[in-house]
Amino acid sequence: MRNLTCIVCPIGCSLDVEEDASATDSLSVTGNRCPRGEVYAREEIRAPKRVVTATCRIEGGAEHSVRRIPVKTSSPCPREKIPALLRDIYETAVSLPIKAGDVVLAGWNGGEINVVATRTLD
Ligand code: SF4
Repeated sequence: MRNLTCIVCPIGCSLDVEEDASATDSLSVTGNRCPRGEVYAREEIRAPKRVVTATCRIEGGAEHSVRRIPVKTSSPCPREKIPALLRDIYETAVSLPIKAGDVVLAGWNGGEINVVATRTLD
């Protein structure tokens, strides 16, 4: 039995997840107040993903008041791929000006994930 807290909405239901090792994809989820909790628990157990936040270098950063810009993924990234994604983010340099929401790394992981700026800098 595993216990998870559902993070889909602010209620934060406490989910109990029971796996039946003898059956393929057999998970029993209880404690969820709505179907989204079961979907969350299944994904968290089988293929966990996270939204990744990091910073990118600013091209010619020494000339600006800040040297890095905060960024985040536009969709969750499979957890096992986060180290590779972070390496690519840290190798990426952006030019100013940039607006919050501008894509700084497009189509990562076969087009599935964009990395976008979360701050506007002139
Ligand atoms: S199970 Fe439903 S109600 Fe409970 S935290 Fe998740 S989304 Fe919210």
